[in-house]
Amino acid sequence: MLRSLGRRSLIAPLRSFSSVRQPSYDAVIIGAGVIGTSIATELSRHGWRTLNVDKLSGVGLGSTSYSSGILRMTYSVLDSVKFAWEGYHYWQSWEDHIGVEDEKGLAQLRSCGQVIIRSAESEAFITKTLACFDKLGLPYEMWDNAELQRRLGFDLTSYAPPRRIDDDSFGEPNGREVDGAVYFPTAGYISDPQLACHNLQTAALATGRAEFAFGQSVVEVTREAGRASGVRLADGTVISAGVVVNAAGPHSSAINALAFPDPAENDMRIATRPMRQEVSYVPSPPEIDWSDGGAGMVVTDPDTGVYWRPEVGGKILCGTVEPPCDASFHRYPEDPESVYPGGAESSLTEQWTNQVYRAALRMPTLPLPDSANTQGVVACYDVSDDWTPIYDGSALPGYYMAIGTSGNQFKNCGVAGRLMRELITAREARRAAFAAHLALERVPGCGTIDTAAFSRLRTSHSSANNVMG
Ligand SMILES: Cc1cc2nc3c(=O)[nH]c(=O)nc-3n(C[C@H](O)[C@H](O)[C@H](O)COP(=O)(O)OP(=O)(O)OC[C@H]3O[C@@H](n4cnc5c(N)ncnc54)[C@H](O)[C@@H]3O)c2cc1C
Repeated sequence: MLRSLGRRSLIAPLRSFSSVRQPSYDAVIIGAGVIGTSIATELSRHGWRTLNVDKLSGVGLGSTSYSSGILRMTYSVLDSVKFAWEGYHYWQSWEDHIGVEDEKGLAQLRSCGQVIIRSAESEAFITKTLACFDKLGLPYEMWDNAELQRRLGFDLTSYAPPRRIDDDSFGEPNGREVDGAVYFPTAGYISDPQLACHNLQTAALATGRAEFAFGQSVVEVTREAGRASGVRLADGTVISAGVVVNAAGPHSSAINALAFPDPAENDMRIATRPMRQEVSYVPSPPEIDWSDGGAGMVVTDPDTGVYWRPEVGGKILCGTVEPPCDASFHRYPEDPESVYPGGAESSLTEQWTNQVYRAALRMPTLPLPDSANTQGVVACYDVSDDWTPIYDGSALPGYYMAIGTSGNQFKNCGVAGRLMRELITAREARRAAFAAHLALERVPGCGTIDTAAFSRLRTSHSSANNVMG
């Protein structure tokens, strides 16, 4: 029987507005995932009265709670590398960033480093990401095969291109070895993404200006005098607000459809859509210590088409880097809720099995659970056309978007919150000057981020076209 780890539960009291005729806020944020909650933290610290509305029963119960929580700087777009570099420094000083005590404790950064296995499959991505790293002076090391084997005990056979396990050639060596790896010391993971989200909520609530309403669905983005003026909830309550922010994760395109009943008014050049994903949990191989805090690392192996990292409980967590052979696994459900417990697409499938068997090519002693003991999660990414997020305003004054997080923006929640706060406050004050650049505060050596990189109006980036971004 296939088993899915259900939503990690964090039950918060439901808040109803039925007794309030028309509450009013400076900003209403649709979604209380890690992105929407971080925006609330930033805006409320800035003096704004914010309300996050979420249809679930607490913070971080949507796609955030299923996140692999990997923190890496390796992207193929320069501003994405800068953004992740700045984002990582939020995790390094998370306690300071949160600034208040959370009775549930603080999310812990596990700083274990990342390796990307080198072979023909990864060369294009590595060339692009190293060009960015060189430009910014960020650290990395080249490992030869001996070092790769010494550190991680991997089988060095090259199997590229990645194949499905029902392909007769699955697991057949291509006659070459991999060409070592690139090691990135500044990388790691957060094993409890939902706790990180709770930390952000606690920080927001501590300002006394942030509120959260759970168990409430937004069904309309209201307008007044040509601006977004608030939202209507499923129970009919209207909440008015100076600005409305779409931070609805995999539901982002559905919320955009509410904001633009006439799609012709929406000038976005980059679209977003939900994409179903599976993540596998398996016992770790015996050769090296993959326990939390052990010698294991974040491993990206385009040669076999998977990534993995240490997971608490002596396991490894394994996901896909979407090799072309998996195209038929890739589903874009109309309703993202269909992948969550009880939904029609919520069971683990052969995607789980393919991921695990591919990881076993690199780690032949990986214990493979039988089909009665599979563990994993099913969730949705909110994928943009170029796997790069949209952090921007819109054609509707007062309506903003922090969407298209493409399976790779958990790591950036801190800096994304700040970017959205600066963007919203500047635009609302008609300070266009901000619009072009966000100064990197935590890593000043890297200069500024060109916010056009995350614009809804950009031309698609030439990215990896997968979760690597
Ligand atoms: C399987 C998986 C693995 C990932 N791994 C990584 C990783 O290793 N590293 C990394 O950096 N990123 C990773 N990500 C991506 C990262 O987790 C997401 O980018 C991030 O969590 C998105 O947060 P969010 O707040 O935008 O969305 P969500 O957490 O999905 O929050 C959106 C919220 O909006 C609410 N909502 C939607 N519609 C409505 C409505 N109409 N009314 C009220 N509420 C509504 C939902 O209930 C939900 O709670 C992964 C994602 C997944 C799914």
